[in-house]
Amino acid sequence: METRRLDAEVLIVGGGPAGSAAAIACAQAGLRTCLLERHADAKDKPGEGLHPGVEPLLRELGVAQGLQAASRARFAGVWVGWGGPPRFEAFGEDQDGPWLGYQVSRARLDTALQERAGALGAERRYGSGAQEPIVEQGRVIGLRLEDGTECRSKMLIDASGPARWLARKLDLPQRERSPRQIVRYGYVRGHCPVRDEAPALSADDSGWTWTARVDDDVYQWARMDFEGHSSRDEPPSEFAGMERIGATRGADATWRVTQSAGPGWLLAGDAAANLDPTSSKGVLKALLSGTMAGRTAVAIVQRGADEAQGGAAYRRWIEGWFDTDVTALAAMYAKLGADAFG
Ligand SMILES: Cc1cc2nc3c(=O)[nH]c(=O)nc-3n(C[C@H](O)[C@H](O)[C@H](O)COP(=O)(O)OP(=O)(O)OC[C@H]3O[C@@H](n4cnc5c(N)ncnc54)[C@H](O)[C@@H]3O)c2cc1C
Repeated sequence: METRRLDAEVLIVGGGPAGSAAAIACAQAGLRTCLLERHADAKDKPGEGLHPGVEPLLRELGVAQGLQAASRARFAGVWVGWGGPPRFEAFGEDQDGPWLGYQVSRARLDTALQERAGALGAERRYGSGAQEPIVEQGRVIGLRLEDGTECRSKMLIDASGPARWLARKLDLPQRERSPRQIVRYGYVRGHCPVRDEAPALSADDSGWTWTARVDDDVYQWARMDFEGHSSRDEPPSEFAGMERIGATRGADATWRVTQSAGPGWLLAGDAAANLDPTSSKGVLKALLSGTMAGRTAVAIVQRGADEAQGGAAYRRWIEGWFDTDVTALAAMYAKLGADAFG
């Protein structure tokens, strides 16, 4: 049987915010770009609460209208009870009024970003995941898809999120700065007026719980125990009596940064660096690191920048950012006596 071939200057694995932002940056610069997403249809998933800082970023990416279409509610801050009574922590304000975060449908936001990449000329392939990287003399020169298609590239950007496809395939070096953590989360339907105005984060010396409204009558909860794996299956008491939607799920929330650049490849988004979701900035960081990875690829592939130097600068940026966030988060956790973090 003849092997199907696909050639692109930049191949991007994963159609989440990191992968789409990278595809937009590459396609905008005129590179032959291909975005590969395993799922044929965009799925709703965690990451619905967006920091107001995403707004200028999405405008810059040309997706301001997509943000409006995906938006289901706005909120001015978060109720935080960190070892004490809850206080409202506003995002901030300027002469135009308070800065407002967004509650969005991730399926809609991800689709808007992917469509923007497509409108700029990026090819999009859905329904078949990246299976194996193709490596020649230590350099990644492409990948094989699950459907057998062989794809060649000058630069491959892995934005596969928690799947960490390339890191697993190449056994890339990583630093972990927390004990292994699993966050448990789930969704409920009904009405919880106390949670309609703004999300809440409450923590004591055993761990933290996050609750938020994510649609008209849908709410999300998440729980992380400092002692390791949370075994919580039930929604928190705030959502008692509400209808559960689907099963409780788990997500790896170990604080981890992976070597994010090498010969022929870059990592972006959660695939590059991951913290637990306490700060609610995962999507913002995915958009920023995807854009930076895309610009790094443009500099190397199109403008002939030195790949080792470009990759090293990108790595320093990812790791510096991660270490700064780890310091801040570890200090928060230490206040509750959780000192195995950081
Ligand atoms: C419980 C929980 C709550 C959260 N809440 C928030 C929040 O309120 N706000 C916030 O900003 N962040 C939140 N986050 C974090 C946020 O979800 C992530 O940081 C964000 O989605 C990362 O984007 P990404 O593009 O790196 O990865 P993803 O959004 O995970 O996208 C990765 C994409 O890659 C695809 N893929 C995977 N493997 C392959 C493969 N082999 N081939 C092709 N495609 C592949 C996947 O299908 C997926 O579409 C939360 C996380 C959790 C676990």
